[in-house]
Amino acid sequence: MQKDKTVFEKIIDGEIPSTKIYEDEYTYAFLDISPNTRGHTLVVPKKAYSDLYNLPENEIENFFGTVKKITNAMKEGIPCDGVNVVINNGAAAGQVVFHLHAHLIPRQTDDRGYFGKKYIYSDGDAELVAKKISNKIES
Ligand code: 5GP
Repeated sequence: MQKDKTVFEKIIDGEIPSTKIYEDEYTYAFLDISPNTRGHTLVVPKKAYSDLYNLPENEIENFFGTVKKITNAMKEGIPCDGVNVVINNGAAAGQVVFHLHAHLIPRQTDDRGYFGKKYIYSDGDAELVAKKISNKIES
C-alpha cells in the first residue's frame, strides 16, 4: 500500500505552493510558512526520511551540504549576523512534521532571541528575501 505523502513531499512535488530558495537532486529548501525571523528557511531531503535517526549514511553529505550552503548564503544575502540551525528530532523534541528538516533561522546581534517569536512578512518581502538568499548560493 502507498504511504500518504508528507506535507513536504507535496511541496516538493508542487502540490502545495512554497517560496523556494534552492533545489538539487537530493534536497529542497523553502521559506517556513510560520517564520520565527525574516528568512527562516527549511531544508529537507527529497526522500521522506522521518527524522535524523533515519537519514542514511549516504545522504548525510547531501543534506548537510545544502544546510551549509544556505547558511553561508544567508550571511551576506539577508544579511544576518548569525544563523540558528535547529533540527527538532522526535516528538519529544518538538518535531511536528515527520519528514526530516533543518530550520535555518537568521539572527541579528540585537534581536533578543527567536524562540516563540512570529515574523510577519509585508507584501512581496518573502519572495524578496528568498531571492536575496538564493542569489548568494554558491554551487
Ligand atoms: P517541526 O516542529 O516539525 O520542526 O516544524 C515543522 C515546521 O514546518 C514548522 O515551523 C511549520 O511552520 C512548517 N510548516 C508546516 N507546514 C508547512 C507548509 O505547508 N509550508 C511551509 N512552508 N512550512 C510548513
